Amino acid sequence: MARSASSAGKSRARPVAAVPRFDGTVTDAVRERAAEIHRRLRKAQPSPQVELDHTDAWTLLVATILAARSNDRTINGITPQLFARWPTPADLAAAPQEQVEVVVKRSGFFRQKAAAIRKTAQAVVAEFGGEVPASMEELITLPGVARKTANVVLASVFRIGSGIIVDLHVTRIVERFGFTTDKDAKKIEALLCVLFPKRSWVDVGHRLVLHGRHVCTARKPRCGHCPLNEVCPSAADEPVGRWSARARWEQTLAESRGEVDTFAD
Ligand code: SF4
Repeated sequence: MARSASSAGKSRARPVAAVPRFDGTVTDAVRERAAEIHRRLRKAQPSPQVELDHTDAWTLLVATILAARSNDRTINGITPQLFARWPTPADLAAAPQEQVEVVVKRSGFFRQKAAAIRKTAQAVVAEFGGEVPASMEELITLPGVARKTANVVLASVFRIGSGIIVDLHVTRIVERFGFTTDKDAKKIEALLCVLFPKRSWVDVGHRLVLHGRHVCTARKPRCGHCPLNEVCPSAADEPVGRWSARARWEQTLAESRGEVDTFAD
C-alpha cells in the first residue's frame, strides 16, 4: 500500500497545480502583519505535522475524509481497525457498506462517511490504478475530496504546495488576524497564497491549523500566552513575557498534541 511522491501519478503526465485566483486588494499593513505572523509561527512550529495518524497518502486521505465534523483524536482511534481490516483501496472498494459503517460509527455521520470512503476507494482503483494521485487537479476528481482534503494530503505526504489548507480553525483565525471576514474557503485560500511566500505553503497551512487548535481556540483563545499577541489586532489580554518564550510554549503544546501545557492556567 505504501507509496511515495515519486511514484505518484507515474502512468500519466502530472497537470500543473492551479491556485485560486485572488481578486481583492491587500494593504501594506496587512502584508507586514502577515510577514511578522509568519516569522513568529515558524519559530513556534518549526516542523508542523498533521495530527491524523497515517502511514501513506491513502491512509491520510481516508482519515481526512472521516475527520470532517469530527476530531482527529476520535479518527485516530478508528483508523487502525479500519486499515487492519481493509488495508488497500481495493480492499475498501469491495468492503460491504454495512460493515464499514460499524467500524467508522464513532466518527459521526457514519453512513455518509462509510459511503464516501468506499466511493473514494473505488475511484482510486478505477481511475488511478490503486494509487492516490499527487496533484490537486486529480485529487479533487475523487468523490468526497475538495481542496482542503487535497491540500492536507499534498502538503503532508507529498510535500507539494498547491495551495494552503483552509479549515474551520483557519477561517476563524484569519478573521482574528484582521486579514478577512470572508467565510468562503477558496477566497481565504487565495488571499493566504498572496500573503505567504509559495515556498512556505506546505507548512503554513499546518501552522495555522495547529495555532487555531491549540492556542487561538474558538471559545477561549490563549491571548496572553500567544506568541502573536503584539501583532494581533484581536489580542484580548496583555502579553506574558517575551514572544520567543511564548513561541517555545506553543512548540511544546503543538508537538505534544495539546498534552504538555507549560503555561497551564
Ligand atoms: S492574540 Fe489571541 S486572538 Fe490573536 S492570534 Fe493570539 S490567541 Fe488568537
